[in-house]
Amino acid sequence: MADDYLRRTAITRPILTTEQQDLLDATISEWKTACNISSRIGWENGETRKTYLQDLAYDTVLEETRLGSQHAILATHQAAAALDGVESIEDLDEHYKTSRPEFTSNTVKYDTRTMTLFDDGSVSLSTVDGRIRCDLNLPDEEDGYQHEYLTDDEWEVTESTLSKRDGEYYLHLGFRKDKPEKQVERQDDDEDRTVLGVDLGIVNIATTSTAYFASGRELRHRHREFERIRGNLQQTGTQSAHRTIQQMSGRESRYLRDQLHQVANQILEEARTYDCEYIAFENLKHIRERAPPVKEFHQWAHRQLVDLVEYKAEAEGISVEFVDPKNTSRRCPECGHTSEGNRVRQAEFECESCGATQNADYVGAKNVGWRYVRRGLQSSRRTGDSQLALKSGTVTPNRGFVPSD
Ligand SMILES: [Zn+2]
Repeated sequence: MADDYLRRTAITRPILTTEQQDLLDATISEWKTACNISSRIGWENGETRKTYLQDLAYDTVLEETRLGSQHAILATHQAAAALDGVESIEDLDEHYKTSRPEFTSNTVKYDTRTMTLFDDGSVSLSTVDGRIRCDLNLPDEEDGYQHEYLTDDEWEVTESTLSKRDGEYYLHLGFRKDKPEKQVERQDDDEDRTVLGVDLGIVNIATTSTAYFASGRELRHRHREFERIRGNLQQTGTQSAHRTIQQMSGRESRYLRDQLHQVANQILEEARTYDCEYIAFENLKHIRERAPPVKEFHQWAHRQLVDLVEYKAEAEGISVEFVDPKNTSRRCPECGHTSEGNRVRQAEFECESCGATQNADYVGAKNVGWRYVRRGLQSSRRTGDSQLALKSGTVTPNRGFVPSD
């Protein structure tokens, strides 16, 4: 569950010599090996708990890689988190067959025992061969949000990630600070809280109240394509056709999962950008009752997406909440008028009362978020103002629309 820390990430770029790059490349490579070893051991033993997997895999990781002891521990934890993610997804859909998590991306985790951040803006990082120290490339003070975390002592460095993409190195510095005490206490009663509403759909697989649209077209296209080829192969009925179907299913699952991961990351990014403590979805149990009925594939995709967002949000102290989706596609976010006639077409919304026209998915996202904001207001234990995050500002039940600075 959400812990008592506020968490932020500052993206920086280390300035590296060729020699340092080689050391980091070697470290990344050994890290992947270590995670894959831990993943295999966890998978074989059905172990997804960090400290237990650490006990099982630590010695092997130290023997078979050049990582230092703390990096070996972090790798076992990383694998445990990935294995745990697989399990929770499997629970959701027994027909969705998963495979052992494989670590292929060029990243390596750091914590305070493997990385030190200095006041002069330099950093020291553990590698497979001792530590390296380098400067960080930071934007100017006025432009860079990074300075807020680097210079303010209240923010302490926590788990961070070094990654290499297209030949460039990035250091995602994780920071945390204690939530202000009253905020922790007020959590359930009168805290001001900001809610991000999310609509799940078909044209757009997800839309947020801050106007992020994740198109569903590519997903639909790829899914149809897979179905078509699968159908043809099934008719062939040969042994090799069967094998090809199996290989394709693996590819499809990985592709879909990767796509949904990216959408989930974007939703989290929206929540961070707009300082949302809550992300509200429609309750998926109701999805089957929607008209037109959502096909099985999209039901599956929506559930996966929500699960991924929940999983990622938890690590950042953001809560995921669910609301009854009744009328969320029919209510006008401007004037509140609710009518079936407001929904002109699948993609279009035009209010019969005030004439407001908007994208239908965007209307849905705002209404889902608004419902959660209202729910907070009605709760007898709460007296604070909740607000819905919009692209241009926020809306509160009492003060109405407040534009952002
Ligand atoms: Zn209206």
